[in-house]
Amino acid sequence: MSQSEQRQERQCISCGINISGMSAAKFKCPDCGHMIYRCATCRKQSNLYECPDCGFRGP
Ligand SMILES: [Zn+2]
Ligand SMILES: [Zn+2]
Repeated sequence: MSQSEQRQERQCISCGINISGMSAAKFKCPDCGHMIYRCATCRKQSNLYECPDCGFRGP
């Protein structure tokens, strides 16, 4: 696995803040595979997220 990630504007899926440069969690939507980012605060609070692509909701 190479770390060739591009610096892009990333927003927390739950609260919408810009998380570029933060230790945010990223994962793929279990339903459609859309890449989802979540900030540390929302991860701690286990806020719900909603996939912007398919509307899947999860913890
Ligand atoms: Zn957040
Ligand atoms: Zn999805």
